[in-house]
Amino acid sequence: MTRVTIVGGGPGGYEAALVAVQLGAEVTLVEQVGLGGSAVITDCVPSKTLIATAELMTLAAESGALGVRLGDAGAGEAGADTAKSVGVDLAVVNARVRALAHARAQGSSEAVFANLQGQLCEGTGTNVFYVVDGELRTPTLAAGCLAGITRHLVLEWYGGREVDEPIEVLRVASEAFLASTTRDVQAIARWDDLHLAPPGPITGLVPTVWQGREPDLLGR
Ligand SMILES: Cc1cc2nc3c(=O)[nH]c(=O)nc-3n(C[C@H](O)[C@H](O)[C@H](O)COP(=O)(O)OP(=O)(O)OC[C@H]3O[C@@H](n4cnc5c(N)ncnc54)[C@H](O)[C@@H]3O)c2cc1C
Repeated sequence: MTRVTIVGGGPGGYEAALVAVQLGAEVTLVEQVGLGGSAVITDCVPSKTLIATAELMTLAAESGALGVRLGDAGAGEAGADTAKSVGVDLAVVNARVRALAHARAQGSSEAVFANLQGQLCEGTGTNVFYVVDGELRTPTLAAGCLAGITRHLVLEWYGGREVDEPIEVLRVASEAFLASTTRDVQAIARWDDLHLAPPGPITGLVPTVWQGREPDLLGR
């Protein structure tokens, strides 16, 4: 058996490792920071999230020309300057960049946050649902999570209890899923080192209820 040692777990290193394994080699990959390399930890993923923030700020700043008034730009006031009222909280951006980079380095596509009280709160762009003792639960809006439309519709159409619990509650959840406009309902397969067997019965049922109700909402 050919043995290969690769130094560096960036795109170059882990691709080389995958190919070597496919070719039958026994591979050891040495990495000093985290899997994903600069691409995940400092370059591609962080820069794309900064670009996403900048694009949204530009859109919001230019929306004044289309008659949109934001914040203190003065509702309905002719000549109100939307551009001046658009701000960014860099601490939030930084926390999001770090969380996403950490999630990517773990092979995950989303990072879920606790709020300052340690209660389960939300993902970087998703709401979180989980099942304990057969009951579907999600954090209350008072926890600080986004009032997502998909979250609202899951609660209205399927039902569930809004409750604030320590983030560790996910360790005893039998199922968990993310909800957002782009993901709809997406089962969580792994939570750190905890593997959930997706989709569980409730996670499987919610999209069925959803598909039954959506045509009504869209007038189809
Ligand atoms: C702002 C920015 C945005 C980018 N966006 C994109 C993009 O959208 N798409 C794209 O394809 N590319 C993008 N890139 C380029 C991309 O990041 C690099 O091409 C890619 O990271 C190179 O991969 P690599 O594996 O060669 O090196 P790296 O990703 O740098 O990985 C090297 C790894 O080796 C580890 N290492 C080094 N020395 C040791 C040691 N002695 N022992 C153990 N581990 C060690 C490091 O910790 C690191 O994890 C971007 C770059 C920048 C700067």
